[in-house]
Amino acid sequence: MRNYIGRFAPSPTGPLHAGSLVAALASWLDARAQGGQWLVRIEDVDSTRCLPGMDQTILQQLAAFGLISDQPVLYQSGRIHLYQQALQHLIASGHAYPCSCSRRDIELAQQRSGHVKPRHGELIYPGTCRHGLHGRPARAWRLTTEATHPLLWQDRRLGEQTQDVAAEVGDFVLKRADGCFAYQLAVVVDDAAQGISDVVRGEDLADNTARQILLQRALNLPTPRYLHTPLVLGANGEKLSKQNGAQALDSLDPLVELNRAAAVLGLSAPPAPADAFANWVAQWRCLYNLPP
Ligand code: GLU
Repeated sequence: MRNYIGRFAPSPTGPLHAGSLVAALASWLDARAQGGQWLVRIEDVDSTRCLPGMDQTILQQLAAFGLISDQPVLYQSGRIHLYQQALQHLIASGHAYPCSCSRRDIELAQQRSGHVKPRHGELIYPGTCRHGLHGRPARAWRLTTEATHPLLWQDRRLGEQTQDVAAEVGDFVLKRADGCFAYQLAVVVDDAAQGISDVVRGEDLADNTARQILLQRALNLPTPRYLHTPLVLGANGEKLSKQNGAQALDSLDPLVELNRAAAVLGLSAPPAPADAFANWVAQWRCLYNLPP
């Protein structure tokens, strides 16, 4: 069997909620179902959004649910030099360029070209700085996305996925104007450094995968397999968040919460609570056609 290493990679911006527990449980079950390791990585690269002490809260919550990292927990905040190295590599190989545009500059350029539709609230970068800064100061760094064919990738649950990154997203940010490295770059560097063979995470992140595959290719890194799990929806039908009714998880009654998360993953309640994890691992193997 190949060397399976999976991970759960929460950002310490708030405690785990029902939605994040689904992703944590799914990634743990997939690792156990394939005789692999399960790692926890704290994605605290965006210091503007992280809350002090939240990493410990999340790790305690995971432990209360019986989910414990097989290796010491990795913190992205201690790995900035590696993201800088990766950026240098992309600059040297002609894949990254500096950008001086503010959000307002991008909006204006889009209005001029008739492209005013934002995508998930993000503006598609019109490529203004691709051919030089023309004396303006560099604010951020972007990846050059080639307008070739749409990128195809396989999701173990959703099947074949496709995205034309150049047309649908545009040259995306690698390092922001405030000096923070972007999630896309950090996650790709760390997945490769930790030897992650399988990424199992919430479906809301599926849309990032094509960008991450482009970066893996530009950095000569392997592409892991991907499985995006169903989302827990809030009262307004949108992805669960604190704003639409996400309740704090009740760690005092872990089995109730775990049963709910398992149900979202299509797994039924185990006959004997003491064997819950073993039972779910067996169900997971059936669901994803994994050998026993
Ligand atoms: N840190 C990201 C989040 O909490 C997850 C990243 C990933 O699993 O790729 O949404």
